[in-house]
Amino acid sequence: MAEFFAHHALLPGGWSADVRIVCDDKGQITEVTPGATPGAARRLRGHVIPGIANLHSHAFQRAMAGGAERRSPAGRDSFWTWRETMYRFALSVGPEDAEAIAAQLYAECLTRGFTQVAEFHYLHHAPDGLPYADRAEMAQRLFAAAAATGIGITMLPSLYRHGGIFGAPPHEGQRRFLNDLDGFHTILERVQATAARQPHAAWGVAPHSLRAVTPAMLEAMAALDCPIHIHAAEQQKEVEECLAATGLRPVEWLLRNTPLDARWVLIHATHMTPEETRALAATGAVAGLCPSTEASLGDGVFPLPDYLAAEGRLGFGTDSHVGICPAAELRQLETSQRLALELRSVATDEARPHPGRGLLERALAGGAQACGVTTGGIAPGLRCDLVELDDEHPTLAGRSGDALLDAWCFGPADRMVRSVAVGGRVVVESGRHLQEGTIRENFSRTMKRLGA
Ligand SMILES: [Zn+2]
Repeated sequence: MAEFFAHHALLPGGWSADVRIVCDDKGQITEVTPGATPGAARRLRGHVIPGIANLHSHAFQRAMAGGAERRSPAGRDSFWTWRETMYRFALSVGPEDAEAIAAQLYAECLTRGFTQVAEFHYLHHAPDGLPYADRAEMAQRLFAAAAATGIGITMLPSLYRHGGIFGAPPHEGQRRFLNDLDGFHTILERVQATAARQPHAAWGVAPHSLRAVTPAMLEAMAALDCPIHIHAAEQQKEVEECLAATGLRPVEWLLRNTPLDARWVLIHATHMTPEETRALAATGAVAGLCPSTEASLGDGVFPLPDYLAAEGRLGFGTDSHVGICPAAELRQLETSQRLALELRSVATDEARPHPGRGLLERALAGGAQACGVTTGGIAPGLRCDLVELDDEHPTLAGRSGDALLDAWCFGPADRMVRSVAVGGRVVVESGRHLQEGTIRENFSRTMKRLGA
C-alpha cells in the first residue's frame, strides 16, 4: 500500500486541493479524498497530473535520434531516405544494445511524465535475418528494460511480411523484421507469457502497415481481442501507392475492409480527406499522433480541427524519439496547426479554452485506450500513476491549474517534472530517475560501440 497527499491534483472532475490518494499493493488506486489532511502520506507539493501513456515507440531508434540529419549524396532528403538510414542502423543493434537503449529511453520518458509505453516492435531477428533461439529475444529485452526502469509496457509485436502493398517482396534491409503468421504467433505467445508475469505489462499486436501485410493477415489480427496498432497514411507516396494498387486511400481502405473500432490505433493518419477524418472519428479508434517525429520526417499536418469537431479520439507517441516529452508532443501538434492555418489556440473550444488541459485530457484517455491499460486518471480503480510537476520551475512558478498546464506545454521547457510514481511506486525523485547513473553508463557504452 502507498499513500500520497497532493496539494493540487487534476481529478476527472477538474483540479482539487489537498487530495489524499491511496493505492493497494497491486498499484491500483483505492481511495481519492479531496480536502483531506496529509497524515503520514508522502507529500507532493507541486501540481499532480495522471501519468501519460506514450502510445508509439520504436525504442532502438532512440540511438539514432539526431544522428540522421546529414544530407544524403543524392539530395532531396525525405522520409524515404531517412528510412534507408534507419534500416542500416537497425542491422547493427544486438539484444544487449536494444536493452541498454530502451532503458535509457524509458528512464527519459519517465522523467518527463510518460508512465506507460507501447512498443511497436518489429526488430525481431538477428542481423543475418535468422530468428534468435528464443524467437522473442528482442521483445524480452524491451520487457527487461521496462522492468528495470519501472515504466509500464504494452508490447505490440509487429507482423511484417512484405515490402510493398499487398505482397511485394521485402527489401534486404527489412530482413530482421520478417515473419509469417506461424513465426509471428510464436513471438506473440512468448510476449503474452511475459506480459502476464510482469507488473504493468500488457500486449497487443501491430500489423506494420498496408505495405507489410496482406488482407488475410490483417483479418487474422482483427480477430484478436487486444489493441491493434497499424501505421497508416504517414506519407503522400504511401497514399498514392495504395490508390494505385487498390483504388482506395489507406485510411479509406481500412475503413472499408477492417472492423475498425476501439481496439484499433491508426498511427499517424496524417493524410486523410474530410470524409476519412469524420469516418475514422466515428469508429472509436484512436489516432496515434507522433508530432515531433512527423515534423522531423516531413510527414505533413494532421487534420486536427475536422477530427476534433467529429469528436475523434487521439493520443501521443514519440515514435523515433527526436522528442521524448509529452508536453513537447502536445505543443508540436498545436504549433503545426498554427503554422498551417495561421491561427492560434486551435485545439480548444468554448468548454475547453486551455489547449494544454484539453490536449492533456485527450492524451490521457486516448493513450490508456491505445495501450489497453487502466491509466489516465486519478480515481479509484485506476492505476496509481502520478506525475508531480515542479512548481518552482521558472516556467511554472506563480501559476496554477489550467494556466500552469498551458505553461508546461507552451512555455520554455526542459525538465519540469519533480517526481513520478508508477503503480504507486516512486521511480523519479527531484527530477531524476532513481537508476539514472547506471542506465546512462550502459547507454553511453552502447553508443560508443555502435559508433552511432
Ligand atoms: Zn512508427
